[in-house]
Amino acid sequence: MVVDTRIIESLLQGPQPSAGKVARILEKAGACKGLGIEDSAALITIEAPDILNAVFKKAGEVKERVFGKRVVLFAPLYLSNHCTNGCVYCGFRSANREFPRKALDVPQTIKEARSLEEMGFKRVLLVTGEDPRYGLDYIISCVRAIYENTGIRIVHVNAPPMDTESLKALKGSGAGVYQAFQETYHRPTYEKMHPWGMKKDYDFRIEVMDRAMSAGFGDVGIGPLLGLYDYRFDSLSAIAHSRHLYDEFGAHAHTISIPRLRPAQAGLSEVPCPVSDEELKKIVAVLRLSVPSAGVVVSTREGASLRNRLMHVGATQLSAASRTNPGGYTEGEGLEQFSTNDKRSLPEVIRSVIDEGYLPSLCTTCYRVGRVGHEFTEKTIAGEMGRLCQANAILTLKEYLLDHIKNGSREAVERSLEEGLKEVKDQALKDALIRKLKELEEGGRDLFF
Ligand code: SAM
Ligand code: SF4
Repeated sequence: MVVDTRIIESLLQGPQPSAGKVARILEKAGACKGLGIEDSAALITIEAPDILNAVFKKAGEVKERVFGKRVVLFAPLYLSNHCTNGCVYCGFRSANREFPRKALDVPQTIKEARSLEEMGFKRVLLVTGEDPRYGLDYIISCVRAIYENTGIRIVHVNAPPMDTESLKALKGSGAGVYQAFQETYHRPTYEKMHPWGMKKDYDFRIEVMDRAMSAGFGDVGIGPLLGLYDYRFDSLSAIAHSRHLYDEFGAHAHTISIPRLRPAQAGLSEVPCPVSDEELKKIVAVLRLSVPSAGVVVSTREGASLRNRLMHVGATQLSAASRTNPGGYTEGEGLEQFSTNDKRSLPEVIRSVIDEGYLPSLCTTCYRVGRVGHEFTEKTIAGEMGRLCQANAILTLKEYLLDHIKNGSREAVERSLEEGLKEVKDQALKDALIRKLKELEEGGRDLFF
């Protein structure tokens, strides 16, 4: 069983943990090795604001120890909104007949990817609805076309669950992370939310990450869609899911996303189990402390000011400038899958990451040098990634400065690079980094550690 939800339910029955108990858990969490599920359960139930503040503080510290100051930026690229499923919360669902359907062809996909590349993005996340007409072969042709025709360095894929052979083929196309969200781990709620189509099958979906790892994906991305069911249950289940992958394959989930339900055309009229901003902050912090090696991904479903605050409690990846309609980057806004809340451009997001004291990163190194799966989890838990992440963030930000900044933010970015460099304590790494920065100035590109 991937996640034993009866255990999750019973762990959440306990009383609120005392300040003393939380202090002991936070001391353990400070070692950056993660937490057992009982400790995660205790943290996710905390409601006392003063105790929560201690959790937030520790999560911020763990984030910096594990990944340095870097916050990775990426953009989703919606390929197709055709869908045969009935997910009651999603604008793409098949019953939404008013919705204009569109699937990019290969030349249009290349155009979209080039437009993201021109903004300065190096990594994209392909997203599709579920429709056999735009299934595996279609997705693979888009992945390949982007690598062959653009300067995008890594293509991740959020696509419906498939069988192992299909996942092997997807991996073979060069896809980086395979991502699919369980939406809710609570079976009765899952059944209500997914009344028809392939996605109706809870087990086929929850087992897909095991298949993906067996198929050769070292890195997988999981996530609950927050708002469908009790957030404590679903976030704790996501932690247990990651733990299951670690026990079975030696690698935690590479990313845990925390999408929160947004209004969608013909979607749900109200959120069944609303999650407040403060609760979302707690979820991010508990994920950071429980699974320190995982990237915690916050999308533009959230507004700018909350996204800024989430960086301080453990969020490590932000999407930026997102359009959730196929063709959105070249043809402008159309009908979206759900309404986004942060419309800022990439330079604006970069500026605010800097203003919050963090280092924007466009790094894609690990996927390309094979530092994935077990190796990535182990190196991260051993505390070896922070210095590399920091150095690679500096290199990619410098490249962004040289190639994409035409005006305004120049000074802020230069200051951020200087500060970032000061924080590299390992002298040999610092010397090598300074040499690579010079190489970039002389025209070299795509340098990394
Ligand atoms: N069709 C694929 C699937 O369902 O696995 C993936 C693509 S879907 C476009 C990506 C994710 O968007 C879903 O997994 C779900 O978590 C999220 N989503 C769908 N409707 C949403 C809404 N109204 N608000 C926020 N997120 C939503
Ligand atoms: Fe289709 Fe995915 Fe939306 Fe469900 S969440 S309706 S499968 S696009």
